[in-house]
Amino acid sequence: MKTPSFIICIFFVSINIALVAYSASRIEFNKRLPPKPAHILCYHDIDPAPQTQWARSPKMLLADFDLLKKSQVEVISLDTFINSTQNGLPLPEKWAVITFDDVTKGQFDYARPLLKEYKFPATFFAPTALVESGEPVISGFTGIMNWKELKALVDEGFQVASHGHTHSDLSALSGQMLKKEIRDSLLALASNLNVNEADVCLPFGLYRQEQEKLFIELGVRSIALTTTDHGSGEPGLMKIRRFEVKADTKSSTVLRTIIGAAP
Ligand SMILES: [Zn+2]
Repeated sequence: MKTPSFIICIFFVSINIALVAYSASRIEFNKRLPPKPAHILCYHDIDPAPQTQWARSPKMLLADFDLLKKSQVEVISLDTFINSTQNGLPLPEKWAVITFDDVTKGQFDYARPLLKEYKFPATFFAPTALVESGEPVISGFTGIMNWKELKALVDEGFQVASHGHTHSDLSALSGQMLKKEIRDSLLALASNLNVNEADVCLPFGLYRQEQEKLFIELGVRSIALTTTDHGSGEPGLMKIRRFEVKADTKSSTVLRTIIGAAP
């Protein structure tokens, strides 16, 4: 029996659609690899036995810090970076900013003593409703810091800033919901830690370009990025482009990404 020609046609059309979809997904995938060089490092959990790619061992963190110090990279605070950029002040020849997302217990137990030992400033981005409930961002993490631990960080001169309230994907929220999410988070930081600078780290690194206006309306000074980057965007809202240091990222790659980044 002969196969009707329209079936053959449908067969080839489907193959074509599948191929186009596959190559589009490859392009999307490739766009994110390799990550762009950046001076601003983004760490997640610090865990002696990392259970996810988002955790780094204290040993690797120590190796990173050691290499930065040996290579005379000056670690500056996020605040110094923002102020220098806004006021046209020069930055050190080799510089980096260290940030931690999700305020895990492992960051408090392992990163904090190391940061103090190396005298490195750092910013910790807290999803405030999860701090309240004690629920870590993902189950494989070493838990989440409480307000007392976050207050200790602030008292020691570290910055604690917003990572949203409930760690929701902001790109999926309406304008009103986004405003509530960020406002609740900033209020929680102000009332528990007396923190008033509005720097926001985007959960999952996601946002929509048109949401930049909403951040400005809320008085947000900067948004810290990872995955999504909509380019230079609204004036008055600083984009903090970051390099994610994962479980298996080599310390030499961390150094190269900083040195290789634009001034
Ligand atoms: Zn997060």
